[in-house]
Amino acid sequence: MQVPAHVEYERATSVEHALTLLGRPDHRVLAGGHSLIPMMKLRLAQPGVLVDINGLAELGYIRLDGGQLRIGALARHADLLDSAAAGGHFPIFHDAERVVADPIVRLWGTIGGSLCQADPSEDLSAVFAAVRATAVIRGQHGDREVPVREFHLGPYETVVGPGELLAEIRVPVPARGRTGSAYEKVARRVGDWSVAAAGAVLQLDQQTIEQAGIGLTAVGAEHFVAAEAEDFLRGQPATEQNFKTAARIAAEHCHPVADQRGPEDYKRHLVAELTTRALRRAVARATA
Ligand SMILES: Cc1cc2nc3c(=O)[nH]c(=O)nc-3n(C[C@H](O)[C@H](O)[C@H](O)COP(=O)(O)OP(=O)(O)OC[C@H]3O[C@@H](n4cnc5c(N)ncnc54)[C@H](O)[C@@H]3O)c2cc1C
Repeated sequence: MQVPAHVEYERATSVEHALTLLGRPDHRVLAGGHSLIPMMKLRLAQPGVLVDINGLAELGYIRLDGGQLRIGALARHADLLDSAAAGGHFPIFHDAERVVADPIVRLWGTIGGSLCQADPSEDLSAVFAAVRATAVIRGQHGDREVPVREFHLGPYETVVGPGELLAEIRVPVPARGRTGSAYEKVARRVGDWSVAAAGAVLQLDQQTIEQAGIGLTAVGAEHFVAAEAEDFLRGQPATEQNFKTAARIAAEHCHPVADQRGPEDYKRHLVAELTTRALRRAVARATA
C-alpha cells in the first residue's frame, strides 16, 4: 500500500484546542509524521482524524530550568543535536542524535513523536531511560508525571491515554564534573535503525559508582533498561573489569530476536561490547 485510507485533518491552534480535539473518538496526534504517515500508508494505522500539532510553538523548546533539562515534545531531533544545554550536561544526547536516522528525518521528527511511537528500536527511548527522565503527560484535567522507565507498555504502546498528549520530558541535571554519559550504536548502514545500541550514565563519588543508568534498544530489554547491570555497578569502583561484568549481565538479561539485522547471539555480543564501550566513555567524560 502506498496511499493512506481516507482521513480527516485538523490543525490545532493551541494545546487546549489539541486536547479538546483529542478527546473525541478516533483522533490522533500528528507530529513530524515520519512514523505515523508510513504506518498509515501500510494500513497499520488508520486514524479517523489527524490532529496536527506542528503549529504549537509553545511545545518546541529545550531549556535548563530549576535544576532540570526541559524538552518540549515538539522539539525536533535537530534541535536536540544543536542544543548546547543538552549536550553540555548530557553528551549522550548528542552521541545518539548524530546516529538517529538522517538529516531530513532529524529536521522534522520530534522528540515526543519518538517516545510515543514506542518502536522497540527507538534510540531516544533508551537514552531517556538511561538518564532517568520523566514524561509530562497533559490532559484536559491537568498534567501527570510518569518516569520514562514506566512510559512504554510494550511495542508501539505507551501510557498516554485517549484525550492526552505528551507535553514535555524532564531530565534532572547532575552536578557537573561527577557525571558522564555516552551512547554507542551499531547499524547496518548510515541512517539505519540499530542492530543494537547501548547508552550509559555514570555518577561518581571519587572512583566509586554512586548511580548507573544503562539503556538498551533493539534487543528486547524490558523498558529499554539493563536493570540488573545497573544494580551490579552501584557502589562498585569504576574499573574496566566491572564494566565488562556489567556488560555481560546486560547481555544475559535482554531478549533479542533473530531478524534481518542479525541472529540472537550476535545481538547479545553487541550488547556486551557496546555497553562496555559506553561505560568506558561515560567514565572518561566524568573524570575529564
Ligand atoms: C527513514 C527513517 C529512519 C529512521 N531512523 C531512526 C533511527 O535510526 N533511530 C530512531 O530512533 N528513530 C528512527 N526513525 C524514527 C524517527 O526518529 C521517529 O519515528 C520520528 O522522529 C517520530 O517522530 P515524529 O515526530 O515523526 O512522530 P509521528 O510520526 O508524527 O508520530 C508517531 C506517533 O506518536 C504519536 N505522537 C507524536 N507526538 C505525540 C505527542 N506529543 N503526544 C502524544 N502522541 C504523540 C503519534 O500519534 C503517532 O502515533 C526513523 C524514521 C525514518 C522515517
